[in-house]
Amino acid sequence: MILLQDMTLQQLTDYLTSEYQVRSFVAKQIYGWLNKSVDFDGMTDISKSLREQLKQNCVAVSARIVRTLTSQLDGTQKFLFRLHDGNVVEGVLMNYKYGNTLCVSSQVGCRMGCAFCASTLGGLVRNLSAGEILGQVLAVNALQQGKERHVTNIVMMGSGEPLDNFDNVVRFLQLVSCPEGINISLRNVSLSTCGIVPNIRKLADMGLPVNLTLSLHNPDNEQRKAIMPVTKAYPVEEAVAACRYYFERTGRRVIIEYTLIDGQNDTYAHALQLASLLRGMSVHVNVISLNPVKETGLKGTSERTLQKFLQYLDKFGISATRRRTMGQDIEGACGQLRRRYLEGDDD
Ligand code: SAH
Repeated sequence: MILLQDMTLQQLTDYLTSEYQVRSFVAKQIYGWLNKSVDFDGMTDISKSLREQLKQNCVAVSARIVRTLTSQLDGTQKFLFRLHDGNVVEGVLMNYKYGNTLCVSSQVGCRMGCAFCASTLGGLVRNLSAGEILGQVLAVNALQQGKERHVTNIVMMGSGEPLDNFDNVVRFLQLVSCPEGINISLRNVSLSTCGIVPNIRKLADMGLPVNLTLSLHNPDNEQRKAIMPVTKAYPVEEAVAACRYYFERTGRRVIIEYTLIDGQNDTYAHALQLASLLRGMSVHVNVISLNPVKETGLKGTSERTLQKFLQYLDKFGISATRRRTMGQDIEGACGQLRRRYLEGDDD
């Protein structure tokens, strides 16, 4: 099947004019519908016969919302998207004063093996195409039509490791910032990685103004290896050096993500080691307490210890804040909704 949302307007026009002999204004109309996440049946200004032909070979909506959970606490919404082959991924929409941030998935499952993360429990199923990542944004954006704001910001913090699906993710960045499309500035897009060093450098060399987040979670290589196996290939010093390089090349300040796990990475010694690792760098540390995932048995750090950890970092001159926890009542953490869905115990 050909996913039409994988294409830019130019590519769609080339494809439709050569394969279906349509005029370019028709391609443009179809492109408009695709950007509103409207399926062939809803493309009312396109002839029925063309739509029937397209249905044979093409997919219009590459990610379809099949379930929505809304937090009673803060209005955060969690979506389950179904892809054309029946796989499902999830996304979260958070409302802030400055706009609406959508967290999207880049892979079905994940093969990074982080000990605390629900997304990786079943391993990697497959990569998402650029249009399947974009499709999540388009579907949620379409839901928001008529409301005050659409999706204004995107974080690639859903299931999957974006830098393990490099080419499709870069293509997604091109599609989402396309002036003829939904035209979201890459300054409003963040890509989060567990630290695949060569691809951080490759992305840096592309000079895109996308924000980079490194999920560090422990400054000590031996301890980090136990919770994040990627450390065996890329030690923390190399990951942090790649972040420095990213800042040099793009001018974008890197964010360090630090999830506190009870008794594992939340002591004074960890704060001290983290501060010395990041010394002299233009970074900000986002601290959160682990969102417990029942299968892992790990616990989040208490509020008191979290506040102390922030104070230590402040004392060591490291800019750090606590990231607001949202959607606590709707299984906000990565991959949890998909897991429940696959286990079949949520209907
Ligand atoms: N693979 C990418 C992006 C997806 S994970 C990465 O590693 O950055 C998005 C963020 O959620 C990462 O910082 C990840 O470490 C964190 N995370 C995963 N499971 C979590 C949990 N149960 N509680 C808190 N943070 C979690």
